[in-house]
Amino acid sequence: NKSEIQVGNLDKHAKDHYPLCMRHIHETLKANHHLKHGCRLQYLLFLKGIGLKYEDCMEFWRQEFTKNIDEDKFQKQYSYLVKHCYGKVGSMLNYSPYSCVKIITDSVGYGEQHGCPYKQWESTVLKEKLESYGLRQENAIEISEMAQKGHYQLACGKYFEYTRFKENKNVINHPNQYFDESYGAIK
Ligand code: SF4
Repeated sequence: NKSEIQVGNLDKHAKDHYPLCMRHIHETLKANHHLKHGCRLQYLLFLKGIGLKYEDCMEFWRQEFTKNIDEDKFQKQYSYLVKHCYGKVGSMLNYSPYSCVKIITDSVGYGEQHGCPYKQWESTVLKEKLESYGLRQENAIEISEMAQKGHYQLACGKYFEYTRFKENKNVINHPNQYFDESYGAIK
């Protein structure tokens, strides 16, 4: 039920239904009230893909960013990308959310938080994060080892299984596919 895709529910959805890449970005935004450009783009398009309406997305972004900067600066520097992602300005193109292949192959600079964590993160960092999210140690190790061998999307599917307690039937090819499968499963 997409009517439940509202700003007030995003923390819960991030915990329950986001793949690790998006959960990490969401939590970074909540903690820092800021995201670098590549991160903003990856997350904005995902939010559009899960069905967050344009006005709600703008309000979510505004609420977070204006905890650090004033309204005027937000409007001048940061509101444009939200409009852009929803096709409201510029070439008015309706941009598609990024697939896993796109996210995995994109370059991620030092200090940036986007990309695919199974590729980007050191094994120990990944393992510790997974354990902090409640995974059993042996499951966190299994996922980290898959990631180390370069099986990022399979590692993502395992994370789905261990957090959703159900089989991941389709290889994860898209963060929005992950969300839809997870979210649909509880209805
Ligand atoms: Fe995100 Fe895809 Fe990586 Fe999973 S495999 S964390 S959905 S980019």
